[in-house]
Amino acid sequence: MSQDNQLEITFPPVDINVVKVKDPVEVTIHESRICTHTSSPNFIRHVTFDLTGTALEGKFVAGQSIGVLAPGLDENGKPHKLRLYSVSSPTGGEGGQPHLVSTTVKRVIDENWETQELFTGVCSNYLCSLKPGDKVVVTGPSGKNFILPEHPENYNYVFFATGTGIAPFRAMVLDLLKLDKKPDVALVFGSPYRTDLLYYKDMLTLDQFHDNFHYITAISREAARPDGTKPYVQTMIEDRADVLHPILSKPNTLIYICGLKGMETGIYTMLIKHGLHGYCKVAPELEGRDPSTWTRDEIKTGLKPGNRAFEEVY
Ligand code: NAP
Repeated sequence: MSQDNQLEITFPPVDINVVKVKDPVEVTIHESRICTHTSSPNFIRHVTFDLTGTALEGKFVAGQSIGVLAPGLDENGKPHKLRLYSVSSPTGGEGGQPHLVSTTVKRVIDENWETQELFTGVCSNYLCSLKPGDKVVVTGPSGKNFILPEHPENYNYVFFATGTGIAPFRAMVLDLLKLDKKPDVALVFGSPYRTDLLYYKDMLTLDQFHDNFHYITAISREAARPDGTKPYVQTMIEDRADVLHPILSKPNTLIYICGLKGMETGIYTMLIKHGLHGYCKVAPELEGRDPSTWTRDEIKTGLKPGNRAFEEVY
């Protein structure tokens, strides 16, 4: 069986590096709000920048990133390096306003397991502490290969996100739901607890008002699946087959994956287990074998995205 059908996907031309790191611009924080349930122990914010008067106005499309330069110096006395954040506002700007662009930021707060010292992410904590009216130095846009294709109305979409990996998909879903021709769109979102569901009410509302949009959640640390395993985004291919199989079986469906590194191979394995071919390239040593016999190393090196799959995993 052909693993990868011959659908030729092309991306539209987009602006990149309109504002470069050697000549960044100062913009203003327009809004900063928590986008989890208020009882979540994590701090994740929807942060909106006002780009008015800069060359960045109207330049970002869904799937691209904005660069942020945190003030101050690193431990070597050098300016902090540029950090890229996926844009979570749709093409055309937050709320249709080209001067507003948003991202989704989680405070990185951790403990060094050897020294027991507190580790706090430089840029995420800086961004999460900024308030409306504060200034921030930015660059962009970045990225041209993790965006919606040319003629997006000709495809269907399944988006798989873990945690803040939802950012580009909030943007893409909002773009797709505006199209006259209605593609099938599913968003499969994974988080540890229900309190960590990002943009939960917004996604439920979109699901309620758009027949072609399906929102599915995978909560990993609450109820286990009947076989004792954790619900993950990839297990939804099995657990919500009623919604996902009809979409994934269509020859013009694309999948996009964003979030934790490792999720992509779990998704490809599950797709193949369910006979949903066309999304990934399988190494010859794996082909024809039952996926349950594949070793972890074989999976890591033997499964690569095909031309209908796009991934951005860190
Ligand atoms: P999080 O809230 O901790 O949620 C991650 C979820 O994924 C948890 O439910 C976790 O389950 C589950 N998970 C763990 N391993 C998995 C696997 N192999 N397959 C499927 N699911 C798995 O996430 P987060 O802290 O926001 O982290 C999101 C990640 O996305 C970060 O690494 C961030 O850098 C990345 N990100 C990338 C981009 C981009 O590339 N543009 C944009 C935004 C975010 P358990 O922990 O219970 O096992």
